[in-house]
Amino acid sequence: MKKKLTPKEKNHYRTLETREIIPEFICNARGKEEYEDILTESVFKVMFKDGTEPAFSHPLHNNKEEGIYYCAACGQPLFGSEAKFDSGTGWPSFFAPLAPECVDFEEDYFLIMPRTAVMCSCCNGHLGHVFDDGPAPTFFRFCMNGTALNFKK
Ligand SMILES: [Zn+2]
Repeated sequence: MKKKLTPKEKNHYRTLETREIIPEFICNARGKEEYEDILTESVFKVMFKDGTEPAFSHPLHNNKEEGIYYCAACGQPLFGSEAKFDSGTGWPSFFAPLAPECVDFEEDYFLIMPRTAVMCSCCNGHLGHVFDDGPAPTFFRFCMNGTALNFKK
């Protein structure tokens, strides 16, 4: 079930581009079967079989270097280091993507609690979840799997 963000939710970060220059990207997504062949088992599991890495397991959770985080499957630029913050959760956390178009949302359920899953808008790979307890300026917390991201300085 696709979840559409409410207009109020969207306004929080609709106009927010966290970086002045976003690397150019042309989406050329492959099929899930192809990704199974080219991605490592752990990346495929998180991104295409709704897996979640254990908290504090991925080195990117406390990465503080300046750079860009790319989709581990298709290479789309997704998040900038300037939007990263230390959430204490053990997962890389951002208050906004590089641009609103980078991600899609879908409602899923954990036990009986509805949550909003975040996917890469190009390859539809699962990245993590978004919560509304983040810091200013958006008050969103994009809680991502480090496994689904590639960092480049
Ligand atoms: Zn992608």
